[in-house]
Amino acid sequence: MPELPEVETIKEDLRGLVVGSTIERAEVLDSSLVEQPSTEEFVRRLGGAGITGARRRAKHLIVELDTGDSLVFQLKIGGHLLLVPPVEEPETALMLILYLDGERRLFLRDETGFTRARLLDAGELGERLSSLGPEPLEEGFQADYLPRKIGSRRAQIKPLLLDQKVISGIGNIYVDEILYDARLHPRRKANTLSEGEWDALYDAIRANLAAGVEHRGTTVRLFRDVLDRPGEHQNHLRVFEKQGQPCPGCEGQVVREKVSGRPSHFCPECQAEDGSGEDGQLELR
Ligand SMILES: [Zn+2]
Repeated sequence: MPELPEVETIKEDLRGLVVGSTIERAEVLDSSLVEQPSTEEFVRRLGGAGITGARRRAKHLIVELDTGDSLVFQLKIGGHLLLVPPVEEPETALMLILYLDGERRLFLRDETGFTRARLLDAGELGERLSSLGPEPLEEGFQADYLPRKIGSRRAQIKPLLLDQKVISGIGNIYVDEILYDARLHPRRKANTLSEGEWDALYDAIRANLAAGVEHRGTTVRLFRDVLDRPGEHQNHLRVFEKQGQPCPGCEGQVVREKVSGRPSHFCPECQAEDGSGEDGQLELR
């Protein structure tokens, strides 16, 4: 599903293309989209609302309205927001159409049908976002946060980084790239990381997510921006879905194994499971 860089890309597109527009009418074509409130109320409260802003929190895309409501999308892997024109009108897998002033329409389509939306007032929005961990690209995210938050946990590092209550915005593509950069095996227990490894992990989180934003997201399969363009970060991946290919950092080969139920890609040479790799230190607390 879209992770921080992909949702950030769509948010930036909305800021440039639709903030300032008015939603003249909303049409829900697949009622499984609307989680809250009822579909009828969702449509009624969107009608006539002005779009005043767009922002992102974790993987949530938030469209701010002059009614005080926020339209919150959780885009799943096939979820596309497309602006027509200039994009040609999509014909399949439609979930929502927002008819904007000036003869434009914002389509939400999702061939997997898993994208969800909510229309929330300020209180409901605050509640919804309250349990999320910090934003890794914001200044407030400091190198000492993760060791303080999860440094004594015996859990594996990969599922901890995917936990949105621990840290926001990281999903299965970027986490594999981050762990590769930090030379950490995805099954390493958080309580075995050395100080140097926590620092390497912090740097890898920031660098990989910033690069993903810079490259306007990763299109491994379906991701598209609001103008139906793919991202470019897939050209910069080192291990994600590179199983069987040579590791860019050593003579070894990238492998794919399930870790905590998720397909995981890593180099067993560079990312030793016991932390005894080239730069790693075995440290048991
Ligand atoms: Zn390697």
